[in-house]
Amino acid sequence: MNRRTFLKLSALTLLSISCRSVFPRKEVIPTKNPRKVIIIGAGMAGAGAASHLKEMGHEVLVLEARNRIGGRIFTDRSGGYPIDLGAAWIHGSLGNPLIELAERYSVKTKETDFENIMLVYESKKISKLDLYSAHKKFESILKKIEYFTEDNPSVTSLKSYLEKEYSRLNLPPLDRKVFEFLERGLENENASTLSETSAYAFFHTTENYEGEDELVYGGYDSILKGLLRDVPVLLDEQVLHIRNQNSEISVETSKGLHRGDFVIVTVPVSVLQKKSIQFTPSLPPEKVRSINAIPMGIFNKYILEFEDKFWSDEEVFADLTQPNPMYDLIFNFHSYLKVPVLGFMGTGERSDRFGMDPDMKSLALSELKNIFQKKIPEPRRILSTQWGRDEFALGSYSYAVNHMKSYIREYSRPLGNIHFAGEATHEKYFSYVHGAYLSGIREAELIASKTNSSSP
Ligand SMILES: Cc1cc2nc3c(=O)[nH]c(=O)nc-3n(C[C@H](O)[C@H](O)[C@H](O)COP(=O)(O)OP(=O)(O)OC[C@H]3O[C@@H](n4cnc5c(N)ncnc54)[C@H](O)[C@@H]3O)c2cc1C
Repeated sequence: MNRRTFLKLSALTLLSISCRSVFPRKEVIPTKNPRKVIIIGAGMAGAGAASHLKEMGHEVLVLEARNRIGGRIFTDRSGGYPIDLGAAWIHGSLGNPLIELAERYSVKTKETDFENIMLVYESKKISKLDLYSAHKKFESILKKIEYFTEDNPSVTSLKSYLEKEYSRLNLPPLDRKVFEFLERGLENENASTLSETSAYAFFHTTENYEGEDELVYGGYDSILKGLLRDVPVLLDEQVLHIRNQNSEISVETSKGLHRGDFVIVTVPVSVLQKKSIQFTPSLPPEKVRSINAIPMGIFNKYILEFEDKFWSDEEVFADLTQPNPMYDLIFNFHSYLKVPVLGFMGTGERSDRFGMDPDMKSLALSELKNIFQKKIPEPRRILSTQWGRDEFALGSYSYAVNHMKSYIREYSRPLGNIHFAGEATHEKYFSYVHGAYLSGIREAELIASKTNSSSP
């Protein structure tokens, strides 16, 4: 199975294998023909491209619309400890280049044991055996759908395949409840509902690294800061117009004009869909079609900080009693930060209302009461995200649709000296931070090969 399922049978059988290996650092060949490259966006794609080009000896300038670097990596330190409100995990540690980057910049990461979990149904803890048995059934249903859809690229949703399979089995109510939770886990990975997700695309267009998921609990932004250490970055510079005329590129921003030989556009695909950046000449229709065909999902966090830790040591919690809860799972950040913090994670547009809904706090506290069966104290601090409403993100990460690879190929094709990077331009690892990073390296290498083959 290509897509990750956050509960893995191997670990439930207590055979957890630690998989961590270091990605070989990309060789840097100094350029004999240094050029000026303007990079739009100081997220992971932009930072990867900028640091690689700078190391080769090119002149780089990063233009960022926000007043901070990181984009969809956003480490909040207002409580005196780092908590990531955007990306938080390195997904798949085996051969993942981010592991090497974390080591290079001394950023703390630690494997998350997603099987160290406490699920509650009607005020009772679900036993590990019941969870294991339901999970095994769920995995075999997924495998069957994966096999069946291999040569069947229809747009039928994963949800409708699942429902068909469930109806064939005489499932005990508890299994159905665990299945609903596991479905929410998949939605969470995909940042979209399983009714919106084509089963074919889900199984056959995505890939990932093997190995464990590591939480970057030293703050994901420390990796970005390391990459951008010697790179000039202009903050609060929103790019409005990119012109490619007479083999010179000019970039008009909210503050002025910059000229360069190359541009790498790393803004989220959703920002291009909204046409908030103009291009002269205009983007060709086939590129616009591909950009518009890549969907952006929504995933948000609602973080509660308490005076003291009143919960147990499992890493993940959920109450399965209510149908259709507003969150997918609750993550125990205390295991890593040693600060009493719990994070509700939710998917879809409704999760954008986490911070706006006046009932959200009481809903969250009543969920915690159901799980821990005790009076829950008032949180001393609440943080919430609204990535779908953030004008420079307009969503959290892209998700798979049929023909994804061909859309990505068209989207990422350079237009002369205008290049495109960002998570949604990586054929294998779209949606992930490592996909964003590798897309930046890819475009930096492409520019290097162009400049090395042309005379100075
Ligand atoms: C809540 C959440 C949780 C996530 N969890 C994980 C996770 O655990 N692991 C994982 O691998 N991935 C995760 N992701 C996805 C991951 O964050 C992204 O895939 C990755 O950070 C994208 O990097 P990027 O450089 O492509 O884009 P971005 O980080 O979005 O960078 C693009 C930059 O362009 C800037 N920009 C936009 N418009 C303009 C403009 N007009 N002018 C100038 N600048 C502009 C933006 O401000 C931004 O800084 C998560 C995302 C979210 C939102």
